[in-house]
Amino acid sequence: MSDENKSIHEFDFNLICEYFSAIERQGPGSPEVTLKALSFIENLTSESRIADIGCGTGGQTMVLAQHAPGQITGIDLFPKFIDLFNQNAARLNLQHRVKGITGSMENLPFPENELDVIWSEGAIYNIGFERGLNEWRKFLKTGGYIAVSEASWFTEKRPDEIHNFWMEAYPEMDTIPNKVAQLQKAGYVPVATFILPENCWTDHFYVPQVAAQETFLKKYPGKKTAEELVTNMRREAELYARFKAHYGYVFYIGKKI
Ligand code: SAH
Repeated sequence: MSDENKSIHEFDFNLICEYFSAIERQGPGSPEVTLKALSFIENLTSESRIADIGCGTGGQTMVLAQHAPGQITGIDLFPKFIDLFNQNAARLNLQHRVKGITGSMENLPFPENELDVIWSEGAIYNIGFERGLNEWRKFLKTGGYIAVSEASWFTEKRPDEIHNFWMEAYPEMDTIPNKVAQLQKAGYVPVATFILPENCWTDHFYVPQVAAQETFLKKYPGKKTAEELVTNMRREAELYARFKAHYGYVFYIGKKI
């Protein structure tokens, strides 16, 4: 079947997947940040069960696996990401402890009270921060941890241009104290929050996209959906450079009581 015969939705889906498969991470983050978040989590053993939700191709999962004991299950909606995830695990000889499965964060395949840690970097926005915190809680053991990174406002007020952009992209974007209150309300003790350094957006996310964008545009000359995707990502990067004082990614770590 040619691309023209596929529905727009299916084509977009494959294109987005291809675009993001070309880079190591599918959201802002870095190995240092993953390890910093991990440093707040106690009592992990080789019996521990960890889920990485919206794991993508597993950039952060592999870092986690190299520094934490236990079994790790990565879950993502996109089968292509999961294929790359499992290849990455095998390349690092982690395949016995680290497994990627295709599935939805809206319908997680775990028994209740099963997990010691729920990890999710740059992905909980897909279900919504509050909904994710509430719905995922039952899968954690008492005393288990949740560690998620989430786009957040640093300031009470911000210029309309950036406010409107993010309110349209993600209406649940909120300030750090409001997000912490949501964490507490959902039944977790707020253990730590910290802001991801700027290099998580630049060196680890937007910079690797520059070369990927060139390759992508050459591969799909005149293809409107491909051009739009690149335009949107470039606009997001440009807005970040201008307005980074007002927002960024924040790690929220909570403990189920
Ligand atoms: N954690 C990775 C990927 C973040 S991008 C990283 O930090 O690099 C967000 C990821 O969420 C994508 O891989 C996307 O495929 C996945 N995703 C989106 N909706 C999802 C859903 N309903 N269930 C599971 N994964 C989903």
